[in-house]
Amino acid sequence: MRNLSPYKKCPRCKERCFQHEKSCHECGLVFERLNYTSNKSAKKLILKGNYKDTIKTADWPPDSKKSTALLLCLFLGYTGAHNFYLGRFIKAGVSLFGFVLAIVMVILTDYIYGSNLWYILRIIAIIPGTCVLIFWFSDLIAIIFERYKIPVAINEDLYSLKDVVLSDKNAEPVENLKFDKNNKLKENKKDKSKESEEIPTQEDASKLEKEDKIKKNSEVVEKLNALKNKKKRTKKER
Ligand SMILES: [Zn+2]
Repeated sequence: MRNLSPYKKCPRCKERCFQHEKSCHECGLVFERLNYTSNKSAKKLILKGNYKDTIKTADWPPDSKKSTALLLCLFLGYTGAHNFYLGRFIKAGVSLFGFVLAIVMVILTDYIYGSNLWYILRIIAIIPGTCVLIFWFSDLIAIIFERYKIPVAINEDLYSLKDVVLSDKNAEPVENLKFDKNNKLKENKKDKSKESEEIPTQEDASKLEKEDKIKKNSEVVEKLNALKNKKKRTKKER
């Protein structure tokens, strides 16, 4: 259903672009490159503190498995395991911290059960606990419906490889198209020349006249010869 929209959002600068645009008119991101992204290299960049060269996209990168992320989220999602796996370390850290905090709170409140502090701590424990649960379920649904934003880096190796393959594959049809156009133009010209041949020009007319004259002359010569032969025959007969 979302492909019906004439617009697409640039994952880098959030600019609204048309579906047919090959690159973002705002930041110049080539959308084709998004098919050749790497989650692994994005994780390396994020761990180095380089967030600039990474993009968050809902398109699943080829080097991370959806099934793994889904299983991690399903069974260990409350600890942020899937976020760690896919490189969303801040979200993962918050999830893990919230989970640990909630557990510690619950354990602590068991020791001081019945006191006034119990109520306060239990209420405080509810906050990180519910946050973790919201994160968990929202991520689970997002992963299932492929709306989970995965940090990716454009893999230069993959892209350069693809670029070569693409240019090779694209080179022929593009040139053929040009050739076709030229051929069509040439064919049109040829057609015109054929038409012009069909219509006799003055030169052609004069040629035809000359040919007619030659034909007539030859006919005359033949007649003359025939007459001469007749004369010879009559002379012989006499
Ligand atoms: Zn952009």
